[in-house]
Amino acid sequence: MKTRVVVLGAGFGGLELTTILSEAFGDAIEIVLIDKGDAFVFGFSKLDVMFGRQMPADVLHSYRDIVKPGVRFLQSTVRSIDPAARRVVSDAGTFEADVLVVALGADLDPAATPGLVEGGHEFYTVAGAFALREVLPQFERGAAIIGVTGKSFKCPPAPSEAALLLHDYLVAREVRDACKISLIMPFGIPIPPSPATSQALLAAFAERSIAFVPNRLVRALDPVRRVALLDDGSETPYDLFLGIPKHCVPPVVAASGMTVEGWIPVDPKTLKTRFPNVYALGDVTSVGTPKAGVFAEGAARTVAAQIIAQVKGGEAPPPYRGTGSCYVEFGEGRVGRVDVEFLAGPPTGSFVEPSVALVDEKLQFGASRRAHWFGNYYSEQ
Ligand SMILES: Cc1cc2nc3c(=O)[nH]c(=O)nc-3n(C[C@H](O)[C@H](O)[C@H](O)COP(=O)(O)OP(=O)(O)OC[C@H]3O[C@@H](n4cnc5c(N)ncnc54)[C@H](O)[C@@H]3O)c2cc1C
Repeated sequence: MKTRVVVLGAGFGGLELTTILSEAFGDAIEIVLIDKGDAFVFGFSKLDVMFGRQMPADVLHSYRDIVKPGVRFLQSTVRSIDPAARRVVSDAGTFEADVLVVALGADLDPAATPGLVEGGHEFYTVAGAFALREVLPQFERGAAIIGVTGKSFKCPPAPSEAALLLHDYLVAREVRDACKISLIMPFGIPIPPSPATSQALLAAFAERSIAFVPNRLVRALDPVRRVALLDDGSETPYDLFLGIPKHCVPPVVAASGMTVEGWIPVDPKTLKTRFPNVYALGDVTSVGTPKAGVFAEGAARTVAAQIIAQVKGGEAPPPYRGTGSCYVEFGEGRVGRVDVEFLAGPPTGSFVEPSVALVDEKLQFGASRRAHWFGNYYSEQ
């Protein structure tokens, strides 16, 4: 009997996991990968599309291109998860797993912030980021706010990147002098684990007259008066609001009984949940790393090693360390990098100065994942 692995979610984590398992086992394993979407989009591509640097069609990576031994991709919505029985009900049927992996990511809930849907925009969903492509060209004077609405959010550098890229965008259109840019964040510095990266970002904001408002959350928008209401009771007027919506687990995960305080707890060394042979990885967990693709990918490598050791036998793999390198858009055609480690001790981060060379490295990062996850195994043999 082949081991049946059911992987829920074909995002950063699910794609990396199924690719490694296919490489390790080929047809000797039975992997079902389920996602409700028809294509993968890198988080950073949302910024590229909204600022007109890439066309929407060019950043959609179709799941049709997943052709790997042992892997069956199903486009279907997961409706219920029974972690004790390792049984999943989807629109495409019911699946029983020997090993179940939940990699369903974090959902976004713009409606949870009063006024955001009616009076603002957000760039964290694919639809929201793509829609901004039509909205931004109309903004040519007034106050723009990039505002975070919840404490836990994906890709902590993304709001800072959006502020710097908005500056460039307005400069290129020769309207920057007529516009103000403010960035409202719940942290004291832009990237708390890396003071050096934060100092570089704060210097870049100061050079560009971007106002950084630390330790504040946007609680609501008043679309009639065009003001953002902050958590200290103050108000800030806006003409363009670019929000980071509240994050939560997908409803099917919330209903599964797997969450504690909103997210799925896991053993940080192994990514095991409290249910036997059920793992969870990536943004859907409270593992202790930021919510970012590179961490979901690292966690997927650990889960893959666990499953390989379990099926083939052998020594327990090394523990997950929560390491990752995040590229940070600094504007003016340069990218920096922050290398962080979260789980081996107190979080640490080192900073690589922005450069043109790192623009190429970031491109290579995306290209290598596309080749690994979507490259056609059979045509390459
Ligand atoms: C603007 C922006 C910029 C970013 N930049 C970066 C960056 O530069 N580097 C980086 O590492 N990270 C970045 N990120 C973060 C990154 O995109 C996420 O952290 C990462 O995708 C999380 O991976 P995951 O596998 O946990 O979940 P996801 O990639 O979110 O995948 C979850 C999948 O589950 C599916 N799903 C959910 N519910 C269901 C259901 N009921 N049924 C079926 N399928 C379902 C979804 O369709 C989705 O495909 C950025 C994010 C944003 C918004």
